Amino acid sequence: MTAGRPVDDITSLLKRFGAESLERKGGISGINVEDDARALVNDLERYPHAFVLACIADRQTKSDIAWSLPRAIREAASGFEFDTLRGLSEDQWTSVLASSGHRLASEMVRLLPAAIGHIGDRYGGDASRIWANGSSGAAVARRFLAFDGVGPKIANMAVNILIRDFGIRLTRPMPDIAVDTHVLRVFERLGLLGRLEHSQLRSTQGKQQLRLQLRARELNPEWPGELDWPAWLIGRSWCHAGRAPECHECYMSSLCPRDGVASHSTAGS
Ligand code: SF4
Repeated sequence: MTAGRPVDDITSLLKRFGAESLERKGGISGINVEDDARALVNDLERYPHAFVLACIADRQTKSDIAWSLPRAIREAASGFEFDTLRGLSEDQWTSVLASSGHRLASEMVRLLPAAIGHIGDRYGGDASRIWANGSSGAAVARRFLAFDGVGPKIANMAVNILIRDFGIRLTRPMPDIAVDTHVLRVFERLGLLGRLEHSQLRSTQGKQQLRLQLRARELNPEWPGELDWPAWLIGRSWCHAGRAPECHECYMSSLCPRDGVASHSTAGS
């Protein structure tokens, strides 16, 4: 770690940025969807299954497509009650997904009805029981992992959103960071995680992802996943992968050691 830039200060600043960057109107932050699509996925009271379906769909496609998908399903089904969705035919699922623009549309035709089936069988049609009162963050992540198509990244992302954006109170152990390329890059540049220069590329990537998860636990043991949102947003906003980072604009600029960033390569410098 770089001398003179204490890890604790960088972690605190990261958390402060995360808290200041939440969606002011409440509900899910960081998605760019129309108001009625947002209202549906934010309605955990009446339609908690909308949130679950959007989380499952949020991979390998633009997030606005994933988080608008429940609205498209509602329009196709003329409603969004759980029993309405359970009664949708395969042709209806295929039709709505084919026009959704989702890159994994054919996979979603299988995964989303399967998710509805799982919510029906396991939770009696009430998806909010996944995050029932008294649950730990780890238990809720484990329940998300029971959905076909959900891996560790989506499971941790879903639980972190529930805590962060919806104020769902969960007990310890809290969820891990959702490992993501933006988050990994920002951790490395902030000097929170050293790079690996090992000989086997594939195992190096896997190890570095695990190291990121472990590092977040070290830095913020009370809730490792709290570091996920601010690091992701910094990566998306300023700390680019394919072009020079915009350090002069970045919230972390005052403390960031810019590890691995060539001094001549910052935009605007
Ligand atoms: S100051 Fe620059 S290198 Fe550091 S996190 Fe921000 S954009 Fe990335």
